[in-house]
Amino acid sequence: MSRPLRLAISGASGRMGRALLSLLGDDTRFELVHAMVAPGSAHTGQPVFVGRADSLRYAHDWMHAPAPDVVIDFSGPAALATALDYCLMHGTALVSGTTGIDAALETRLADASKRIAILRAANFSLGVVLLKRLLREAAAALPGWDLEIVEAHHGRKQDAPSGTALALGHAAAAARHTTLEAAAVYSREGQTGKRVDGSIGFAVVRGGDIVGEHMAMLIGQGERLELGHRATDRSIFARGALQAAHWLVGRAPGQWQLDDVIATPH
Ligand code: NAD
Repeated sequence: MSRPLRLAISGASGRMGRALLSLLGDDTRFELVHAMVAPGSAHTGQPVFVGRADSLRYAHDWMHAPAPDVVIDFSGPAALATALDYCLMHGTALVSGTTGIDAALETRLADASKRIAILRAANFSLGVVLLKRLLREAAAALPGWDLEIVEAHHGRKQDAPSGTALALGHAAAAARHTTLEAAAVYSREGQTGKRVDGSIGFAVVRGGDIVGEHMAMLIGQGERLELGHRATDRSIFARGALQAAHWLVGRAPGQWQLDDVIATPH
């Protein structure tokens, strides 16, 4: 049997980090070797529980990370940038679900993917991968129908619209031979005038403990097609990220997607 993959988690004390830790207790494919948290976090130096008490302790830097095969990052843009530096320096594969990334970091990630394997997804659920495929097909087949994307998340979410909503918008725009930059309408207030033909509208709901909901509405005359996905448990994202990490180790440098993981099982 091959040895377990050595895994580091960036954002280990967060909601997603904890979901990963709770799955790792039963997952013999991985050995957790590093658990990164924010500088100043109360977790620093505390023991990490992976199903059981472990000798590993939370760290707030990469200095003593013991050569992981892969890093899974669910943190924030600043922490992702630091994880990326580490991965580039050591040739380590990187899986990231962090959203809210600016253009400069996008460019750095694209450059880095010439040297290391990077897999990013705004949503690590299998259902959302399928939602995106279905939306692409529907947007192309019904080019004259108005498209609106509505998303809902818990009230602590930092960015809007969600990375998943934007990814859905990009997919639909490409299927209609345009770009989201050209088609998106992110807010409506006051005297908006009539809806612009071909635009893609976004609406955002925030509150309570909503894990993540996305609905794409294709609105025609007298009928409406609704393609929706509801996540009820964030462990689906953690499960998808672990599957992606297992798949990514040993792949060529590049920007990989969850679609690739599903299309090409290990
Ligand atoms: P969270 O706020 O609960 O946790 C953030 C984690 O990052 C914490 O462990 C924190 O210590 C760490 N961190 C923050 N700043 C840091 C820094 N500068 N250096 C090192 N570590 C730092 O957040 P969350 O709900 O776990 O979400 C994290 C990210 O993942 C967000 O961008 C969120 O939108 C995204 N997310 C993606 C998916 C997906 O499927 N792609 C699913 C859920 C959340």
